[in-house]
Amino acid sequence: MSPDKKIYNQLCKIFGKANVYDKLIDRTQYAYDATQKRFLPDFVVFPKDSEQISKLFILANREKIPVVPRGAGSGFTGGALAADGGIIVSTELMNKIESIDTTDLTAVAEPGVINYHFQEEVEKRGLFYPPDPASWQFSALGGNVAENAGGPRAVKYGVTKDYILGLEAVLPNGDFIRAGSRNIKDVVGYNIAGLLIGSEGTLAFITKIIARLIPKPQSTSTVLAEFKTLDQAASSVSLILNNNILPTAIEFMDRHSVAAVKRYTDISIDESTKAILVIQTDGSTEEASREAEKIADLLRSKAGATVKIATTVAEEELLWRARRSVSPALKNIRPNKLNEDIVVPRNRLDKMIEKTDQISKKYGLPIVNFGHAGDGNIHVNVLYEDDERKKAEAAVYEIFEAVVELGGTLSGEHGIGVAKQKFLRLAKTESEMNIMRAIKKTFDPNNILNPGKMGLQKGHT
Ligand SMILES: Cc1cc2nc3c(=O)[nH]c(=O)nc-3n(C[C@H](O)[C@H](O)[C@H](O)COP(=O)(O)OP(=O)(O)OC[C@H]3O[C@@H](n4cnc5c(N)ncnc54)[C@H](O)[C@@H]3O)c2cc1C
Repeated sequence: MSPDKKIYNQLCKIFGKANVYDKLIDRTQYAYDATQKRFLPDFVVFPKDSEQISKLFILANREKIPVVPRGAGSGFTGGALAADGGIIVSTELMNKIESIDTTDLTAVAEPGVINYHFQEEVEKRGLFYPPDPASWQFSALGGNVAENAGGPRAVKYGVTKDYILGLEAVLPNGDFIRAGSRNIKDVVGYNIAGLLIGSEGTLAFITKIIARLIPKPQSTSTVLAEFKTLDQAASSVSLILNNNILPTAIEFMDRHSVAAVKRYTDISIDESTKAILVIQTDGSTEEASREAEKIADLLRSKAGATVKIATTVAEEELLWRARRSVSPALKNIRPNKLNEDIVVPRNRLDKMIEKTDQISKKYGLPIVNFGHAGDGNIHVNVLYEDDERKKAEAAVYEIFEAVVELGGTLSGEHGIGVAKQKFLRLAKTESEMNIMRAIKKTFDPNNILNPGKMGLQKGHT
């Protein structure tokens, strides 16, 4: 009996034959995420509960096989890929919302619940779960927690970590833990739930999520502001925030994004427009539209913008479609992109965008900027032809250097995974890396959980 067959038989004992994939055709589907990297796992398994995950960890420790948690596989940095081979553990069958408590404003869900489905169920009860990554229609809550996902609404409402009260998880040695609780306040001991949020599946397998909910705002209103210069758009973010207005979202598109969107959709945008902000407000119907009017007046009078306010839900959706169309529209400019999600202090956005323009000219590659300007979190896309990959990577390195110089950081949402390990030393000192490695060792002494990620192994940074 080959060792693989032996492992296969043991996996079948734990999960049942139907929930273990060993055939190439099945495993290949799990060799992908949203990066361009491919790693073929040896097996894919589909647990139904935490007991099965615990048994798997005991087996994996004994046989020294890597275990890789996976939600929907929509990550941009390869976190859910089997970089060192091993077993992908998909949460697809752990997809139940266990409870939504309208008196306590909490919900308990399994990690495979899709964000969209969760929001829909919560909103049916008049409640609101704000974290809204652009992948909300297909990404899973476990993946969102492991990446500390954020979305446009982060300007006003924050990101995933702001809505997680507690987690249940299985440790790599097979033990069960409950980190945090369902209480709004809980300062007993170290914040272990906080440590697991954003840990990219390297410390423990999250099996249950206790989320905090808030009342659903009654209404939203959306403003589209077109600017003649990039500077005016970038400085308008601070202008809005300095005027005692806190919109739900402030999304930015540079001139390349605007051109790409115009080619891709029928949205009418003036020829002379060099940048766009899409701004959303919320609250009662009155509040949402009053704030939108206030923003429109401010941007017209102080930033020379041309401003439209959506008057119907259909119009509002059209404006958001413009923003969401940017990413797919980039394929029309170049076939490949390196998509980074840098963050800089909001009042330095203009300097950062100026810098990417200089880098674009230096390397002769289009660099398209769009994203969550309200949080200083911009998706910088370096576009390239098949034979320009090396140039594109050099451009990305310079972008990261500029980010750090401006007091920013390498990633606001997508994490490190395998894709950004080599840039880590620009942002983290050796002492910080040593603390991270010591934490990893405490949770996972045999390094079986998601190895080869986040710069935790020496030689990867
Ligand atoms: C079109 C598109 C738009 C996107 N927009 C955004 C955005 O606006 N904001 C944003 O933050 N991200 C965005 N992303 C990135 C991605 O969707 C998020 O990182 C998302 O949170 C990943 O969820 P997932 O279920 O796909 O996780 P996966 O990709 O499957 O996994 C991501 C990481 O989580 C770990 N993990 C998954 N489940 C568990 C678990 N139960 N326990 C422990 N670890 C686990 C994995 O090991 C991996 O390291 C986007 C991606 C795409 C393709």
